[in-house]
Amino acid sequence: MTACINSTCPYCGVGCGVTVSTNAATESVSVQGDQLHPANQGRLCVKGSALADTIGVNSRLLQPQVDSEEVSWVKALDSIATRMRKTIDEYGPDSVAFYVSGQLLTEDYYVANKLMKGFIGSANIDTNSRLCMSTAVAAHKRAFGSDTVPGCYEDLELADLLVITGSNMAWTHPVVYQRIVAAKKARPNMRVVVIDPRRTATAELADLHLAITPGSDGYLFDGLLAWLISQRAIDSRYILAHTEEYLTAARACLARSSDPLAVAARCGISVDDLLTFYRWYCDTPRTVTVFSQGINQSASGVDKAGAILNCHLACGRIGKPGATPFSITGQPNAMGGREVGGLANQLAAHMDIDNPQHRDLLGRFWGSESIAEKPGLKAVDMFDAIADGRIRFVWIMATNPLVSLPDANRVRKALVACDCVVVSDCVDDTDTMRLADIKLPAAGWGEKDGTVTNSERCISRQRAFLPQPGNARPDWWAICEVAKRLGFGHAFNFDSPAAIFREHAALSAFENKGRRDFDIGALARLKDAEYNSLAPVQWPVPSSRRQGTARMFVDGRFFTANGRACFVDVAPKPAAQRCDAQHPFMLNTGRIRDQWHTMTRTGRSARLLQHIAEPFVELHEADMHSLGVSEDQLVRVHNSLGECVVRVRRQDGQTPGTAFMPIHWNDCFASAARVDSLVAAICDPISGQPAFKQTPVAISPLRSDWQALLLSRAPLPLPKNHYWCRREQSGWQMLLMAGARRPSLAELKQLWASEVDTWAELDDEEGGDIRLVGYAGGEVRCWLSLSLNRPEVDESWLLTAVAEAELNARELARGMLATGGDRSPLICSCHQVRTARLQTAIAEGHCTVEALGACTRAGTNCGSCIPELKQLLVVSAVA
Ligand code: SF4
Repeated sequence: MTACINSTCPYCGVGCGVTVSTNAATESVSVQGDQLHPANQGRLCVKGSALADTIGVNSRLLQPQVDSEEVSWVKALDSIATRMRKTIDEYGPDSVAFYVSGQLLTEDYYVANKLMKGFIGSANIDTNSRLCMSTAVAAHKRAFGSDTVPGCYEDLELADLLVITGSNMAWTHPVVYQRIVAAKKARPNMRVVVIDPRRTATAELADLHLAITPGSDGYLFDGLLAWLISQRAIDSRYILAHTEEYLTAARACLARSSDPLAVAARCGISVDDLLTFYRWYCDTPRTVTVFSQGINQSASGVDKAGAILNCHLACGRIGKPGATPFSITGQPNAMGGREVGGLANQLAAHMDIDNPQHRDLLGRFWGSESIAEKPGLKAVDMFDAIADGRIRFVWIMATNPLVSLPDANRVRKALVACDCVVVSDCVDDTDTMRLADIKLPAAGWGEKDGTVTNSERCISRQRAFLPQPGNARPDWWAICEVAKRLGFGHAFNFDSPAAIFREHAALSAFENKGRRDFDIGALARLKDAEYNSLAPVQWPVPSSRRQGTARMFVDGRFFTANGRACFVDVAPKPAAQRCDAQHPFMLNTGRIRDQWHTMTRTGRSARLLQHIAEPFVELHEADMHSLGVSEDQLVRVHNSLGECVVRVRRQDGQTPGTAFMPIHWNDCFASAARVDSLVAAICDPISGQPAFKQTPVAISPLRSDWQALLLSRAPLPLPKNHYWCRREQSGWQMLLMAGARRPSLAELKQLWASEVDTWAELDDEEGGDIRLVGYAGGEVRCWLSLSLNRPEVDESWLLTAVAEAELNARELARGMLATGGDRSPLICSCHQVRTARLQTAIAEGHCTVEALGACTRAGTNCGSCIPELKQLLVVSAVA
């Protein structure tokens, strides 16, 4: 008997709807795109398609722990409340903090914020969304008077000119990207401009790619405003009727940025390309500018985003179909966090902490006289305060700051020094969890109920379809239980997420009367059954507009005191740091296609780890040549803050002198690959968002005398002094290693001494190769290949071979030598199609994406690999 339930993907800010089918008899779960969800209309990317692979109790934290001992929830909650109360009594309310996450559901977020800002009386609650979109929040508030994303995904399809800046959407927001691809196919005249120092997969769709100098985006958009003014392409009527401070901003902009030659030089692009972009922008009323981390993660990000908003306001391109600026968020519920005041400088329901009327309103609504009166510490400042002892208790929920915050080694020191670290997570081992005094087993995706809000303000339900394993509990419940123990039970007597949502919705409408953008008052009286069946809806949803709102500012009225949008003089600034002789490479960081954040979930899917299995640094071929390194070679990437060891990938889309590393790998998956240990904690002064995109580093080859691939049924101790990268595949621990002193055969066998009763081995001392198979009771228990360079083994063959019990040891060992296999890079994760197979198909005459799909099936499921197929076709055509 199969049961189906609709829910929402827990990964990126696209917020795709999923339909989950569970079969009780076979205990199987399958996940498809929800055909009716407005964000994805049935599509899913490769991460969403692999969601069912990530379910299960393996690696889960199932029982609370206090000081390394398993305890009951009662004891764990008592301990938290006691330690919090003691800290507050001794050092005051600002000595405690919550660090939360865009992975939380809105209901979890709401009660966490209510407890800290409403009853403890401190605003020391901040969220990892600080690292991803707080810049956009600050820019929106400065220009619009509110944190409002004006447009919707449909605008991206309706645009005649789509400007994508600072976003590799093809990999980071794949389903929205696929919607754009489909729109451009249907309307080939639609133009796409991609602004990015790297030529990414997204740039494959571009009519114009501007590979600007890293960090120069502010100059580009300031110059655009000057050009629009000089060409009389501005909408004077709109400016007069709906904005203020135009003249101040325009004069300053004209004075510094009206020479396109100088702007082009600043941005490192040709003046022809610059003017092509400017002319297209001038001539296209239906323009959408999508911006993301390339803009946000900068020491002057708020001004960069402000420069984008200035251009849209100057042309009146906002609040109209196909015409809007559009900040796309990284996390599934970054927007929900903004709604409930998850940032340290906000109050709930988009109210302001420095507004006494808002504090008064909130105090009356919550029945509290302890509303926080001043902003709390933003993420980086919060961990500084932990380091120097101003904060002595921190509760970290659903996030891994030891990997994701800048200067990550300093964050480690801060948590080691903190009196009490509580970590709530659904997995049992993360870099941060290892430092927890109190560990709380949180319910995970599929086990908890609530709502999330995606990048286009669409509120969707996340629904449970699995029982909570062990003693896992939802975060909202744990927070309310602690609140009760602190004496605030009257305000935290919620018995369900539905009850919390009703209060959240009622607060948004309380004394609102159209003064605040966030109003979902129409949902304040939902009965439990109505909450359970709530269909996706875009806020605002005031009582007068139950169907929700696709576009904001349609009438040109904004949420500033006088209803006018505000131009801001945004003098561009160069990148906060520069390369020098010791650190000649400018390092950029970001996501890859098949992984999510710190891999706690996607790292469990063997399918997702096949696309890119090891941490890497991407370099241009010219830089590889000057460094004397080759593809796949191990290198050290380092600066005064830290060091990573990763493999080199050649990427000719990289501008020479720049490098790229992914954000995902961490101490649970690799020996030294936490890229944020290299990134300095330099933040935008307004938003507090760190500048992750421009870090000067040095790169040098790493000498290794041997490299090995190990498979083991039993977990292996991870070596301290060698390079390693681990993953799990089909029940095997897979470990890639490299080191300086070649281990002997005897030392290697010692690793499995208690596991293995029979060995088969080939030791080619002369060639330096060792191949080893260990058996116990006729079953393969371990397998190893060691040689000078990374062993060339077809992993698919290997996994099949070790699973076949009838294969005898000698055959398996010989097979290891004989196998050539296809080890070329995997392109299509869904259908397991590798580069070599695709190159053969292209050579046979399959020279379009469609033809390749028909021949090999690549790109025919989720479509996430289509940009890579296009790249391959281009490269093959050139060759
Ligand atoms: Fe999930 Fe992919 Fe949709 Fe993002 S685009 S929400 S990762 S399925």
